Amino acid sequence: MIPNIVTLPLVKLASGDQLGLQVYQFNGSKPGKKAYLQSNLHGAEISGNAVIQELIQFLISLDTEQLTGEIWLVPVCNPVGVNQRSHYFSSGRYDPYNGKDWNRIFWDYEKTGANIAQFAQEHQHLNLQEIQTQYRQLILNQFHQLSESIKSFLGVTYDQYYRYQLQSLCLDADYLIDLHSATNDSIDYLYCFQGREESAKAFLLDYGILLKDVYDGDAFDEALIKPWLALEREFQKLGNHIQFEIEAWTLELGSGLEMNPESVEKGVRGIKNYLASKEMLSIDHFPLSQTQNHKIILKLKNQLEYYYSTTGGMLKFDVKLGEKVQKNQKIYEILTFNKTGELPQIQEFFAQSDGIILDLAKNHSVNQCNYVLGLMPL
Ligand SMILES: [Zn+2]
Repeated sequence: MIPNIVTLPLVKLASGDQLGLQVYQFNGSKPGKKAYLQSNLHGAEISGNAVIQELIQFLISLDTEQLTGEIWLVPVCNPVGVNQRSHYFSSGRYDPYNGKDWNRIFWDYEKTGANIAQFAQEHQHLNLQEIQTQYRQLILNQFHQLSESIKSFLGVTYDQYYRYQLQSLCLDADYLIDLHSATNDSIDYLYCFQGREESAKAFLLDYGILLKDVYDGDAFDEALIKPWLALEREFQKLGNHIQFEIEAWTLELGSGLEMNPESVEKGVRGIKNYLASKEMLSIDHFPLSQTQNHKIILKLKNQLEYYYSTTGGMLKFDVKLGEKVQKNQKIYEILTFNKTGELPQIQEFFAQSDGIILDLAKNHSVNQCNYVLGLMPL
């Protein structure tokens, strides 16, 4: 299967150079769902690029009959963030122009003030597919009104322009997978939305964060799925318990600034298994037999324990990534050279709960109040 490769100009720089996006589109012989995958929205989080490269290689090896629907892949989807450097480090998490997190800028139909309750009222006599088609059209019509201000002489800020370009590629997708990693050192896990817990198994990851009622706000995955969750809630109030076959995922594949082969392999396997479970891919051995009985531990974000340094100094960890720890077990210490005429001090810190170590700070030099580690209570 040969992909359609579309190059889209993104932004013209002061130097006269042009940044762009490139989309690899695979079209199956039969029409069906659309899956959209992107990587490297945060500049340091590069492992998804290797995942996309492997998926492209894999899809090329298939016949068009083995794909139902279409798969769009966009690696290095944020060139400004990807190219940003501070000495050896590419942080690339925040837009240097306005300080915004690149994954908190996206357009969310639910926040436009649209009367979703009224839509549910007026469309409850239709079947699921008809409701989905009409609601999606409503979202797209509203979204494309944004292009008016982009075309006007007033122009728009880059974050508004960029989100329009990126969401234009995916707002009509049925399945969206945004490939991230930690910027720190981290295990592999995913973000799962309420009601999609059963589908989460197919990624074959051991841990996940469940997004339910509380959201980060304007994140890429949220911007696609929240309007649909809102509509499901409105139908529920009318006594109609429907669920749309629309899903959005953020996969956190390992540590930042590197493409850890194990995390990449897990990502590729999970995505193949997910697309096969959704009957988009018809490939040997997939969905894998362990999918049905796979156990993923899902915790709410506010159940996680994030540890911040209570003093400044140098960190030394006593735990490893993914390690199970007990409450009151020593997890790290901080070496401090105080300026009070005393000898250097070591302060020890202890786990507040039983759990597993989700991530660890990459930078072992901390000011007071810097991030140290994340623990998922079990
Ligand atoms: Zn990220």
